[in-house]
Amino acid sequence: MGTKLCKNCASKIPVNAQICPNCGAKVDEKRIIIEEEQEETREEKESRQNPFGFQKHGPFYKWVTLVLAIFLGWLGIHKFYERKYYMGLLYLITGGFCGIGIVLDILVLLGKPKIYYNYY
Ligand SMILES: [Zn+2]
Repeated sequence: MGTKLCKNCASKIPVNAQICPNCGAKVDEKRIIIEEEQEETREEKESRQNPFGFQKHGPFYKWVTLVLAIFLGWLGIHKFYERKYYMGLLYLITGGFCGIGIVLDILVLLGKPKIYYNYY
């Protein structure tokens, strides 16, 4: 069950609550913002579990990377967007590994949250 913050008293309340159980104030729907915050919190958890101490890159927006991969993947543009510059160059030279690399990237991207981070 998701939570959101009451604008009046800043306490965590159920995401579908219309009235804050803590202070009784009316609460607006701010569901999208809270969903993004929850995804970032999940990423923070992954960051703590990161065993190799890779640098954290991001946030990246899933739809941006997807669109870049689909339309400009053969130029490696989505790799440059993710700041994987050497990989981007490799995609540029090989045409996204003859398209195979692009297809794999798109499949991986589909499984990522709307806002994601990379470690390398
Ligand atoms: Zn409140």
